Amino acid sequence: MADRPEKIRCDACPVLCFIAEGRTGACDRYANHGGDLVRLDPLTVIENGGPAVPFMGADWDGDIVQGHRPFVTAIGAGTTYPDYKPAPFIVSAETRGVDMVTVVTEGIFSYCGVKVKIDTDRHIGEERAIVRANGEAIGHVMTSEYGSKMLSLGGVDHLTGGSKKEGRVTCDALLSLCNCEPVELTIDDGAVVIVQAGKAPVIDGARENLMRVGCGSAAIGMFAAQWKGHADEVIVVDDHITGVLSEHQAGVLLDIPPSGIRVVGRRSTPGRYFQVAEPGTGWGGTDIEDPLKVIKSINPKVAWPGLRLFMVSTTGEQWAYFELDTDLVPQVAEPSAELRASAERVAENCEPSVCSVVFMGGAGGSLRAGVTENPVKLTRSVRETLTQVTIGGADAYLWPGGGITVMADVTQMPSNAFGYVPTPALVAPIEFTMRREDYAALGGFIDEIRDVDDILNGQERRVGAKAAE
Ligand code: SF4
Repeated sequence: MADRPEKIRCDACPVLCFIAEGRTGACDRYANHGGDLVRLDPLTVIENGGPAVPFMGADWDGDIVQGHRPFVTAIGAGTTYPDYKPAPFIVSAETRGVDMVTVVTEGIFSYCGVKVKIDTDRHIGEERAIVRANGEAIGHVMTSEYGSKMLSLGGVDHLTGGSKKEGRVTCDALLSLCNCEPVELTIDDGAVVIVQAGKAPVIDGARENLMRVGCGSAAIGMFAAQWKGHADEVIVVDDHITGVLSEHQAGVLLDIPPSGIRVVGRRSTPGRYFQVAEPGTGWGGTDIEDPLKVIKSINPKVAWPGLRLFMVSTTGEQWAYFELDTDLVPQVAEPSAELRASAERVAENCEPSVCSVVFMGGAGGSLRAGVTENPVKLTRSVRETLTQVTIGGADAYLWPGGGITVMADVTQMPSNAFGYVPTPALVAPIEFTMRREDYAALGGFIDEIRDVDDILNGQERRVGAKAAE
């Protein structure tokens, strides 16, 4: 009987899989091919980008990815593990006379997560509410931003600080989100939201269309002049600030007389009202379906029969027109063409609603030790902006303060940029690019530098730079 081929051990992460001939390891990234450990995904190279923009009299703008040369990303490069090994690829390339070095590695990030921005006014859950995937807690709702709801997902507590299932589900969700795939998220006492980077959110089964033009007060300011002469009062219903034209500074300056219509809620400043309703999925992110519910009173000493009242939401998707009858009760009426057009104008000024997914992670020991024998020097070099950090070729925002904590937009990376290991942790590409002399100064592995032409063998995956598309 022939001897069965020996399993080989992968040491690219702490799991240390023993992989039989023809099989893959637990992460499906490495395989045993004829006794050799191979990385299954091809090394990904970003091709020359768009035309270089002249910069300070030079013909290269300093953009390392758009520098008219192939940029070797860390996608498919493999991982530096254990820490003492140099990064899988340390690549040199001359760019317009500047000898640059790019150190690429697929980093294993235990400390990582995503920040998700969902362009909607609809109420998806209270701040701090737990966000779940497949029933497991994977994050929470953060403070809202202008026109958007925000989620913070992942992080070390969910990846490794909870149950084994919580860690696995969190890792799965992060991986899908970072690779621009849809993920269904359920928010405690809130909505079910399908999030996909670069696509409109689906909230409780309804696809969101528009991001609001502004708050109700801003909308009054923007469109007051267009409403003058066509309505006696305009109320822009908004969960944040509901605007009332005749009271608002814009209406006062346009000489729009008081209407005697008061709205519910807490008056902040003239014509600007907070808390006119509960948050919800109705008009302007409130729970209102009947806009007349925001009217508290109509003063008979001020209002008059025939008063024209136009009500609109902050996306222009909902609107209604009323005229007061002889008892000063609003009755649905036919609006003028100008008022109809104004609702369309509000909608026209809204941007499409999309989900944004930003990867956030901290470069730890393995990563930095793969770049230099003296890891703190890399941190300092990054801080001094001598070294640029990219994630799969996408520009990374470096957080101030200690360490190398970065954020990058996943839609700016080539497809399938992220992987995982079952520890569990996300595997993210990270590249450090600097001048050769700066790499030498930080104690880099100079002997490991290879020319880009020696690395590219036609087996790599070549993609265009997204920023140039
Ligand atoms: S999980 Fe993947 S990277 Fe880790 S040891 Fe197994 S095959 Fe290698």
